[in-house]
Amino acid sequence: MPGVERSWDVETDLLVIGAGAAGMTAALVGALEGLDVLLCEKSDMVGGTTATSAGTVWIPGSSQSRRAGMPDSVEAARIYLAALLGERAIDERLDTFLKAGPVVLDYLERKSSVRFTAPPVHPDYRDLPGAATGGRALGAVPFDGRELGDDFAHIRPPRREFMILGGMMVGKQDIPALLAPLRTWSNLRHVIGILVRHALDRFRYRRGTRLLMGNALVARLFDSIRRAGVRLRYQTELRELIIVGDEVVGAAVSSPAGALAVRARKGVVLATGGIGWSRELRERLLPEAARRYSLAPSSNTGDGILAAERANAVVESGPGSPALWMPSSVMTQADGHVSVFPHIMLDRARPGLLAVDQAGRRFVNEADSYHDFVEAMLRPHASGSPATPAFLICDRLFIRDYGIGLVHPGTRNLDRFLKARYLIKGATIEALADKIGVDGRQLVQTVERYNHHAERGVDEDFGRGASELNRFNGDPLIQPNPCLRRIGPGPYYAVAVWPSDLAGSAGLRTDSAARVLTRDGAVIPGLYAAGTDSCSIFRGTYPGPGTVIGPAIVFGWLAAMNAAGTLPGDLA
Ligand SMILES: Cc1cc2nc3c(=O)[nH]c(=O)nc-3n(C[C@H](O)[C@H](O)[C@H](O)COP(=O)(O)OP(=O)(O)OC[C@H]3O[C@@H](n4cnc5c(N)ncnc54)[C@H](O)[C@@H]3O)c2cc1C
Repeated sequence: MPGVERSWDVETDLLVIGAGAAGMTAALVGALEGLDVLLCEKSDMVGGTTATSAGTVWIPGSSQSRRAGMPDSVEAARIYLAALLGERAIDERLDTFLKAGPVVLDYLERKSSVRFTAPPVHPDYRDLPGAATGGRALGAVPFDGRELGDDFAHIRPPRREFMILGGMMVGKQDIPALLAPLRTWSNLRHVIGILVRHALDRFRYRRGTRLLMGNALVARLFDSIRRAGVRLRYQTELRELIIVGDEVVGAAVSSPAGALAVRARKGVVLATGGIGWSRELRERLLPEAARRYSLAPSSNTGDGILAAERANAVVESGPGSPALWMPSSVMTQADGHVSVFPHIMLDRARPGLLAVDQAGRRFVNEADSYHDFVEAMLRPHASGSPATPAFLICDRLFIRDYGIGLVHPGTRNLDRFLKARYLIKGATIEALADKIGVDGRQLVQTVERYNHHAERGVDEDFGRGASELNRFNGDPLIQPNPCLRRIGPGPYYAVAVWPSDLAGSAGLRTDSAARVLTRDGAVIPGLYAAGTDSCSIFRGTYPGPGTVIGPAIVFGWLAAMNAAGTLPGDLA
């Protein structure tokens, strides 16, 4: 091609930008399909947001679900998505995702060390026709970080707030044993096992090597790309795409060796983690009340989207939310670190907690998904008062039993949290209301009404405890409603929560082959996008656990298979 005969510093078949779930999958599959692959990562660690996530992968109809005895079907998922999004939303991209998903999972298990497991219960986020209670949301099988040798240091660690004892990961399955180690022999054995392993790890490593959730997924992808011969460059950052005519033929990157022009014979895959901290994109795409906190690592600054826009691509935001959200509380630690703690599933649905807006009124079913919770924060409320921040309210017993945010269950001394004004305490509900600046009489009324619901086991206002998801995250020992318990005697506590984005939903317009499109729908030859660099197929909704990483993996796979020209006929 004329114009391509410039001088190149590096040449490759497939250039992948960004080493999260989408980029690592694209790089792995490109190499497995026989391409020479260069993966450029801006930071000195692989994993991106993926490494700090729960690593859940929402892919309907998998063989893994059948293997686990929780068979799921693509047909049921179609019914669910049509109920959630409307019939017409099942467009070509979503259709390709549904068809390709199970194929991709089997491909990865067959050809790499990536392994998935289907927990028996992990419900979809809405009780709609076709919803699954298990089998649809898969997890990565835990991984032993020691297998990576020195490269273990290149795996991005989980969020500091989610580790204990200086770097030990804790999975959902560990929590019951850790909370009651003496209740059964098997609890005790489990706790001793993980503590001894962690103690041994700390002789040699900066953190524990028993990798779970997002860290396990990333470590498995990393292990696989090393075996497949992908060339990986750290601290190598996309600056510009290089275009000849209307085709993307490579990219200019900055690296420790200086600025490099990289020729990509089969294409460039953008997988830089979406909007992230880009001030420009946040101002353009996110509502003002939700711009302050992102859960993305600092290296995610919208680079892929912005570079593609300069190459004539266009950002698309579905009719739903431009981002997917979690409510997060914020605390400045003694060493200056600012902890942003997403309230995912450990407290909001537990019995004895409620959330109020700044008028002191409930505005949401607190036990609904984190995304739905924040969507409610951002909507105008009956009270006319804002809910950013909103306040989670509970009594002392609740903190003892379940913890709240950064405060672990059973914590006896709350001084550190009170001093940092992370926890606000009041001897009475009125005193608490006064401290958080809401109307005392209203808050008393709200708590009384909540207690009335708790006594009857039915939340007449918001249906707390009515859905599969609510009950899954509640406390099964509390009946008849595992999400409702009376708020008892004082003192009372409040924690402020803010909207924070866990992923963009707005992103580059792409087609079902993961190719990036212009405003008028033309393909930009040589340019692919996957993961949060591309617009969500779920159009700003959040169907269930894993609905970012599932598509990130599938479209990473599709991008590489298309670039290699090896896509199976029925998916082409
Ligand atoms: C606490 C938490 C839990 C979550 N749990 C889940 C879950 O269970 N399931 C789910 O589906 N989603 C979950 N999410 C969301 C999900 O983790 C992310 O949206 C998803 O992992 C994004 O994947 P990605 O590949 O698009 O980007 P990332 O994983 O963020 O990777 C992007 C990579 O690109 C690199 N990069 C950025 N700019 C450049 C550049 N210019 N040049 C080179 N490299 C660059 C970054 O350094 C980064 O390594 C969670 C999020 C959070 C915060």
